[in-house]
Amino acid sequence: MTVINKIKGNLFLVLVVLAYIIMFIMKPPMGIESVKNSGYYIKEMLMIMPVIFVLTALLDMWVPKEKIMKLLGKDAKAKGVFLAFAVGSISAGPIYAAFPMCVMLHKKGASIRNIIIILSSWAVIKVPMLLNEAKFLGPKFMIIRWILTVIAIIIFSWIAAKMLKDEDLPEETATKTGLSLNRDACMGCTLCVKSYSEVFEIQGKKAMVKTHNKTTIDKERLQNTIKACPVNAIEYIEE
Ligand code: SF4
Repeated sequence: MTVINKIKGNLFLVLVVLAYIIMFIMKPPMGIESVKNSGYYIKEMLMIMPVIFVLTALLDMWVPKEKIMKLLGKDAKAKGVFLAFAVGSISAGPIYAAFPMCVMLHKKGASIRNIIIILSSWAVIKVPMLLNEAKFLGPKFMIIRWILTVIAIIIFSWIAAKMLKDEDLPEETATKTGLSLNRDACMGCTLCVKSYSEVFEIQGKKAMVKTHNKTTIDKERLQNTIKACPVNAIEYIEE
């Protein structure tokens, strides 16, 4: 039972190992070549990922949630889109380095649309890539490709954001359900207390969630309170 659970939990890894075994049996030279290629990428990842994890952790610690929400959140609108393009375009390194950073940004309030723009521009319109493209294929090719790619990213990120919800991302589903309030982001304006005093209170100049009866919570009133918070510090994930 435990072995089956372990296989289920590492299904992708198991499939990769199986693919290697089949390759070694059917075509040994191809198997050797695959192992060499995998080794090369694992070495590359081991060199890059520790740096990315440290940078992500530092960003997580130093950049407050309300700043990310303001700059890259749903309400950032055109400014957020522009910034997301800038972040993705000036980045360096392989695309997989972007994933932990995007998880952190999303956790701190960046919108799905802006996350998609960062990932897409990181993958296909990074500045170093554009310079090389202009060198090999000519500036005209590069500019036209850049313009059309940017248009495509704007359209597809908009469509994807309509199809995906925050809860669809693993980080969100892994977080605890129920009502939570980010006291680091709270600026103590007391709006939540005025709007729903049975659930929120001010303590030490910041709001906090009171002990309340979950079953009697008025969801409409709670949603209005969440909307009223100027820094989006209140979050409610349905249990
Ligand atoms: S409305 Fe938001 S910012 Fe204002 S006190 Fe409540 S949680 Fe804090």
